[in-house]
Amino acid sequence: MEFLPISWRLQGKGALLVGGGEVALRKGRLLHRSGARVSVVAPSVCAELRDIVVQSGGKLLERGFEPADLDGQALVVSATDDSSLNAWVAEQASAKGLPVNVVDNPSLGDFIFPAIVDRSPILISISSSGASPVLARKLRSQIESSLPARWGRLADLMAKFRQPLKDKLGNIGARRLFWEKALEGPVVEKVLAGKESEAEAILAQAIEEADTDRLSRGEVYLVGAGPGDPDLLTFRALRLLQKADVVLYDRLVGKGIVDLARRDAELVYVGKARDKHALPQDNINELLVHYARQGKKVCRLKGGDPFIFGRGGEEIDLIVQEGIDFQVVPGITAASGCAAYGGIPLTHRDHAQSVRFVTGHRKDGSVDLDWQHLVSETETVVFYMGLVGLRQICQKLMEHGRAADTPIALVSRGTTDLQEVITGTLENLPDDIEGREVHAPTLIIVGSVVSLHPRFGWFRKSN
Ligand code: SAH
Repeated sequence: MEFLPISWRLQGKGALLVGGGEVALRKGRLLHRSGARVSVVAPSVCAELRDIVVQSGGKLLERGFEPADLDGQALVVSATDDSSLNAWVAEQASAKGLPVNVVDNPSLGDFIFPAIVDRSPILISISSSGASPVLARKLRSQIESSLPARWGRLADLMAKFRQPLKDKLGNIGARRLFWEKALEGPVVEKVLAGKESEAEAILAQAIEEADTDRLSRGEVYLVGAGPGDPDLLTFRALRLLQKADVVLYDRLVGKGIVDLARRDAELVYVGKARDKHALPQDNINELLVHYARQGKKVCRLKGGDPFIFGRGGEEIDLIVQEGIDFQVVPGITAASGCAAYGGIPLTHRDHAQSVRFVTGHRKDGSVDLDWQHLVSETETVVFYMGLVGLRQICQKLMEHGRAADTPIALVSRGTTDLQEVITGTLENLPDDIEGREVHAPTLIIVGSVVSLHPRFGWFRKSN
């Protein structure tokens, strides 16, 4: 992080603008909006900037810059078209310990101006750290168009009810939960629809009924986080993840996903690389109960879908037994993710009429499957956790009648930037990958649909 975004109260403080033209004017407007006393020093100052100076109570200095102009200022912006003058202003400001921005050369100063979406009191600032202001502005216009103008009204309404809620609920955690719950209810819709008095009535009633015990009851969310790409999270998964006080995750959950948790949430790694379980399953189940018993909202993030080879059933068993509230959120399972990003339709009218998901790994480590049911030419078979047993899987499928030239794909780290798809046939793939490093997690797809990969594969490794 090259810059720290902070929100700075400038009301009544002095801001010195060096420069009196168009560029200075843009910064002048912004500083004026933030309530600063804007002073301008420049031999010639445009009319609107003069007005700003007068309205904000600053000084108009129609002459060249002098270091003494810096006295009594809180910040300085140098916006002249003379780069050596800008450099000198920056030097003088720094010598006096004043934060300075040089508009056309950010590297000379201490701070930069981000692009802003203003839904006061909500303010969103977007910065590319100077790398591409155009990109930051593009992003701003996207956010502008997706954020209803009334969001600011919602913030005002919440500010209004802050004290009444404080009087009702002494506990800060309970108050946070109250607001989270309120924001999931009809209040937001009412405000956005312009029905503020109805929203107020709902909030007043909710505060009246607010009860710390009820709000502080623990809950467990068993959330499918998808196969890796954070874009594949569901809205619900994201919402619950951001609500959680504690997030338990393992190796299968993409790092970018854990980063979406609340900043103050406790993140607990519960391991699970094959053969080196950081925590045995029983301990994970107990940990979920332990946190929920403390009144926490606990999000157990699972790779893919919790109920597909995810032991989701085992994890909620104890939760149910203990009478703890829970939700299960489906996720995109590895087979769907790898198929889509690997360009391998799992079914296709010309190739496969059914698809079967199979685990290639039994509890005791063997690959002991119902082979005679896995050899239909018109069925796609997807093996989860099958890499170690790959040779045996190919062998057994052929022994039970699947053709030796049946296409097979290995999808490694599917849907992530490191995705790799290796294709071959049942007969040759095990030899082809002998000695080659294939990174976990890996999914195996067997069937004629794999032949479509060269045509439909669209997602490429980025490095
Ligand atoms: N619940 C998960 C599966 C967990 S079992 C789901 O629904 O996807 C773990 C196995 O899933 C791994 O051994 C691998 O076969 C597969 N897997 C999970 N994520 C994967 C990914 N990004 N790429 C390839 N295979 C993956």
